[in-house]
Amino acid sequence: MQPFVQMTEMGHEQVLFCRDDVVGLKAIIAIHDTTLGPALGGCRLYDYASEQDALTDVLRLSRGMTYKAAVAGLDLGGGKSVIIGDPSIKSEALFRAFGRHIESLNGRYYTAEDMNTNVRDMDFIRRETRFVTGAGAHVGGSGDPSPVTAWGVFHGIRACLEVKFGSPSVEGRKIAIQGLGNVGRHLAGYLHERGAKLVFSDINARRVGEMIETYGGSAVEGDAFYTADVDVLAPCAIGGIVNRLTIPGIKAPIVCGGANNILGDEVRDGEALVERGIVYAPDYVVNAGGLINVYSELKRWPAQKAMEDAAEIFNTTKAILNRAANEGITTTAASNRIAEDRIAKVAHIKRLYAGSEGRDANTSAAIPL
Ligand code: NAD
Repeated sequence: MQPFVQMTEMGHEQVLFCRDDVVGLKAIIAIHDTTLGPALGGCRLYDYASEQDALTDVLRLSRGMTYKAAVAGLDLGGGKSVIIGDPSIKSEALFRAFGRHIESLNGRYYTAEDMNTNVRDMDFIRRETRFVTGAGAHVGGSGDPSPVTAWGVFHGIRACLEVKFGSPSVEGRKIAIQGLGNVGRHLAGYLHERGAKLVFSDINARRVGEMIETYGGSAVEGDAFYTADVDVLAPCAIGGIVNRLTIPGIKAPIVCGGANNILGDEVRDGEALVERGIVYAPDYVVNAGGLINVYSELKRWPAQKAMEDAAEIFNTTKAILNRAANEGITTTAASNRIAEDRIAKVAHIKRLYAGSEGRDANTSAAIPL
C-alpha cells in the first residue's frame, strides 16, 4: 500500500524514514498523534521480510501507543520506531546514528527499549539525544518496568473480579498465569501475598518449578492452560493466544493478563468472548504500568508515584467494563472510545486561549512534557 494512503487511513501525523549507509541504518519513526503530548514508544530492532512489513508494523504499533497513553491518563502521544536489520548485528554507531534522527524531531518523539533493544542500546542513543527513556536504575532511571506493569495487571484483575462477582478480593480465587517471566513472576507475588490460589504455566519447566517452590500452587501444561478450571486466566507470555480455537474451551469467567495483543483478532475474538459471557480486560489498558513507569521517569517523580498511578488501572478497567456492558460493545471498543473521547476533549481544551504560552514557555522542546 502507498505510505501516504496507509498513514491517512490510520491517522498518523508524521512518518520519518531514516537511512545511513555508513553505519547500516535503515529505520522508520512513526508519530501517530501528539494531541496529548510528545509521542512515546519503544524502538524495535527486527529483520522484517520487507520494508512494507516494517512500515505496517510501526504504523500499527504507534497508533496503539496513542490509545494506551490516552486511556492511562498520561500526557503522551503515540509513537514507535523500527530499525530494520539483523538483531545479532548491533553497534554503537547504529544506535548513535538513530539517536541523531530522534534528536532532529526536537522532542516530538521519545524512544525506549522494545523487542531486541536493551538498556545498553538506549545508552548509545542517549549520547546523541535527550529524548530517550528507560534509563537503567544505576544512572537514576526508572529501571525494570515489570513490577509496575504487574501491579497494573493485578489491579485490572481486581476490577474484573468486582464486576463479575461483586468483590475485588483475590483471596481464595484461582488464577492461572501463563508466562513466568518478568511480568508473570511479579504478578504471582502480588496475588500470592493476598491469598490467591495460583496455577502456573510456562514452556520453561524450571520457571514453573521455581514458582511452585516459592508460592505453592500447581502447574498446567501447554494448551491445558486455556481449559483450566479457574476464576481468571492471566496470559503474560505471548500474543494471539485467545482466538477462535481456544475461546470455545475457556472455562474461566475472566481473561486479564499483561501480554500484548492477547486476542488473535480484536473484533472477532472480542465479540466471541462477549457471547460466551467471559469478561476480557483489554491488554493495553491493564499492561500500561510500563508506560506509566517511564512517564514517571520523564517527570522525575519518585518511584512510588508510578505504583500509585498504576493502581488507578483498577478504576479505569471498571469504567471500561461498565461502559462496554451499558453500550453493548466489546471492552476493547469501549476503551478505544474512552481514549478517543479524552483526546477530543483535550484537543478542544488546547484551543481555548490559543496563543497563550502557558507552562510551555520555559522549554525548547517542540512538544513539552
Ligand atoms: P519475559 O520474556 O520476561 O517472559 C515471558 C515468559 O513467557 C518466559 O518465561 C517464557 O518462557 C514464557 N513463554 C513464552 N512463550 C510461552 C508459551 N507459548 N506458553 C507459556 N509460556 C511461554 O517477558 P515479560 O517482560 O514478562 O513480558 C511478558 C508479556 O507482557 C509480553 O507479551 C510483553 O510484550 C508484555 N508486556 C511486558 C511489559 C513489561 O513491563 N515487561 C509491559 C507491557 C507488556
